[in-house]
Amino acid sequence: MNRILIIEDERDIAELIGFNLQRAGFEIIKSYDGLEGTELALRERPDLILLDLMLPGRDGYAVFRELRRDVRTANTPVIMLTARAQTDDRIQGLEAGADDYLTKPFSPKELVLRVQAVLKRFDTTPGMVDFTHGPFRFDKNALKFYLDSEPTELTSTEFKLLLFLSERSGKVQDRNDLLRSVWGYSDATHSRTLDTHMKRLRQKLGTHGAWVETVRGVGYCVINTDT
Ligand code: CA
Repeated sequence: MNRILIIEDERDIAELIGFNLQRAGFEIIKSYDGLEGTELALRERPDLILLDLMLPGRDGYAVFRELRRDVRTANTPVIMLTARAQTDDRIQGLEAGADDYLTKPFSPKELVLRVQAVLKRFDTTPGMVDFTHGPFRFDKNALKFYLDSEPTELTSTEFKLLLFLSERSGKVQDRNDLLRSVWGYSDATHSRTLDTHMKRLRQKLGTHGAWVETVRGVGYCVINTDT
């Protein structure tokens, strides 16, 4: 059973989310405070964290940075929640490396679908351990990535995205296919999400970022070693 930590100070919302997730078969841990929530995350190591941005004690961005710095939670998927619908908030959250983002008010059904989609993204297939392409090596079980044999930190979304493209190298992947395969859904509003993650991913790849080509108006492609 997957355990989900909800860090949300608005108790009504925390209750509603918790109720719906429990009904969908998840185990729930709750915190109403940023500091306590961080400690809970490090101690309990949940499978996924729902993180509100406006929190007492420590705001959501600070909580997020702390979680990413600590090895115990560096790869834990995080879905950010916020009351503010401003685009810059959304972009800031995604650029910080959040795996997904929900703007309040959201329907409990939508939330459950997103949680399931993010967790599915993190599922590894037993027996399939390593995949290598050019300077990239993916350890699928440990979700570890190596660039020129050097361990390199990728968020799980970046990992999944680059792996998906690398396993299909030489073939252009359509934006909608990428969104569906990596995020579990696709619609116009998430188009920006894809580009934001791709930008961050390329920065982390440094000079090897050139392995990922943008095909304008279509999508992305990881180049083939044979060509
Ligand atoms: Ca709040």
